[in-house]
Amino acid sequence: MTELRIPGPTPCPPEVLQTLSRQMIDHRGGEFVKIMNRVTDKLKQVFMTRNDVLVLTGSGTGGLEAAVVNTLSPGDKVLAVSIGAFGDRFATIAKSFGADVVPMNVEWGKAADPDEIKKALQADAKIKAVLVTHNETSTGVTNDIAAISKVVKGFEKLMMVDSISGMSSIKCAVDEWKLDVVLSGSQKGWMVPPGLVFASVSAEAWKAHAAAKMPRYYWDFSAAKKFLEKGQTPWTPAVSIVYAMDVALDMMLKEGMDNIYARHKRCSEVARSGVKAMGQHLLADEKCASNTVTAVTAPEGLDVKELRRILREEHQVVIAGGQGKLEGKIFRIGHLGWVNEDNIKTVLAALKVALPKALAVKK
Ligand SMILES: *Cc1c(COP(=O)(O)O)cnc(C)c1O
Repeated sequence: MTELRIPGPTPCPPEVLQTLSRQMIDHRGGEFVKIMNRVTDKLKQVFMTRNDVLVLTGSGTGGLEAAVVNTLSPGDKVLAVSIGAFGDRFATIAKSFGADVVPMNVEWGKAADPDEIKKALQADAKIKAVLVTHNETSTGVTNDIAAISKVVKGFEKLMMVDSISGMSSIKCAVDEWKLDVVLSGSQKGWMVPPGLVFASVSAEAWKAHAAAKMPRYYWDFSAAKKFLEKGQTPWTPAVSIVYAMDVALDMMLKEGMDNIYARHKRCSEVARSGVKAMGQHLLADEKCASNTVTAVTAPEGLDVKELRRILREEHQVVIAGGQGKLEGKIFRIGHLGWVNEDNIKTVLAALKVALPKALAVKK
């Protein structure tokens, strides 16, 4: 069996695969309403929130766009804290819809410094919202969202969090940390295929929404909320992925969220120590290294494509390369969702053979 260890899409357990073959039902009928209400209740447990959690059909990027267009107006000033490719994407979306983006670009491999965010907010009272990535999948770095939010909410700004590859695998306590809009994507740590994005929306975010003038239709939070009250979605949802979430969330809550966070932490420790034992270097500062994805700096002379080809063809192990400016410079091991230490040991064993072989090939 192929060992798919990229940071999404991730493998699905057999129980989830089985439910995906279920016949379609009427998305306006009572049976769907029951499933939708169950899924929403369970999602709220994972998000640790009493806020609304909207279920939108689309990929994670659609969720980032939804967060922006539902809370902001053209000309609104936002601080876009970016620690990698996905932070950049959040900023680009805001800019595309006319926000006045103040960038804060942190060196890739490092986490954002709450004190720097404090300084930026002190320097510019017009900033209305802060965009920040919880877990930066492109660099394998996790931001301290609790500490950042303490600063941001101290200034009474909107706290908008991309936790697309964090929530479900790394603790993200929406209410305790006072997070206004938080996104997560089904294909990352939720053990289901791509197709859904989840958005929690706080009372303050709803207030901002009422005044927000950016154009929106498909992603309109008001429409999603109006239909959620009847256990539906405004447009046809990815019904099969809703079935899958129902099953996957049961598995997650049965395992217990603290146990899930601990399992991801163990997997990340196995990945990091294994890579270091091969004499390789991690991109991320270890104090902020992610529990869901490990980024490894490509050693001098390594063709990352060749390494990935050998792993895929000779070991049935699939890992990710680098994104954006890190393409060809790093490779990444995903360890999120349906994963345990043995999966990561399989990846490491293959890497131990494939890496010298790839290095022997002239770049
Ligand atoms: C995967 C990911 C996205 C984008 O999600 P898509 O589903 O590919 O659109 C955004 N942010 C982060 C942190 C991600 O890991």
